[in-house]
Amino acid sequence: MSGHRKFTGDKLVVASHNPGKVREIGELLADFDVETISAGELGLPEPVEDGDSFIANAEIKSLAAAKGANLISLSDDSGFAVAALDGDPGIYSARWAGPDKDFAFAMAEVEKKLDEKGATGPADRKAAFICALSLAWPDGHVETFEGRVEGTAVWPPRGEKGFGYDPVFQPDGHDVTFAEMEPADKHAISHRADAFRQLIDACFAKG
Ligand code: IMP
Repeated sequence: MSGHRKFTGDKLVVASHNPGKVREIGELLADFDVETISAGELGLPEPVEDGDSFIANAEIKSLAAAKGANLISLSDDSGFAVAALDGDPGIYSARWAGPDKDFAFAMAEVEKKLDEKGATGPADRKAAFICALSLAWPDGHVETFEGRVEGTAVWPPRGEKGFGYDPVFQPDGHDVTFAEMEPADKHAISHRADAFRQLIDACFAKG
C-alpha cells in the first residue's frame, strides 16, 4: 500500500519553457494516456529557481505551474555533480555554460578545477548525473523523486550524441561516454529514467 497521491487526471502541465524537455517528458508519458501542455504554451511566468537542491528547484517549478494553471504539473531539474568539486556544477550546471549555453566551456571549467585539485585517476574523478522530477497539485501537495546515474568525469570530451555534459561522463560499467551511446541506451540507464521509474511506480496506475 503506497502512501503516494495518485495522478488521476487526463491532462498534465509540463512545468518547463524548454521545448526539448517538454518533448522528452511527453515521450516518457506516451504509454499513460495523458495529454500534456507546457507552461510555456500556457504563458505562465518562469519562477526564480533559488532552491539549494535539485528537489527544491523542481518543487518551485512544479508548484508554480500547478497553482498558475490550476492543473497537476510535472517539472524536471537536473545536472552534473562531480564529487571532488563538492558536487559542482550541480544545480548550477546550466549556469556554468553562460548565456550562450557554451557547454564546451563548461566542460573545460570542470576539467580545469579537477586539474587544480590534482584529480587525475578515475577514483578521484567520480561524478553523477542527477534528476529530480516533481509532480505538484494546485492544493500544494507534491510528490518528488530523485534519480541518479554514477560514473566518471573523463577528459577529453568524446562523442557527438546527447547534449550538455554528456561527452565528459562515462557511466559505471561502460567504456563509452553518454555522448557516444545511442539515445535509447542512454535513456535506459539515465538519471531521468531512474527518477521517472520511481514516479510511475508511485503515482501512475498503468494500463
Ligand atoms: P535545468 O534545465 O536548469 O534543470 O538544467 C539542467 C542542465 O544540466 C542542463 O543544461 C545540462 O547542462 C545538464 N544536464 C541535465 N541532464 C543532462 C543529461 O542527460 N546530459 C547532459 N547534461 C545534462
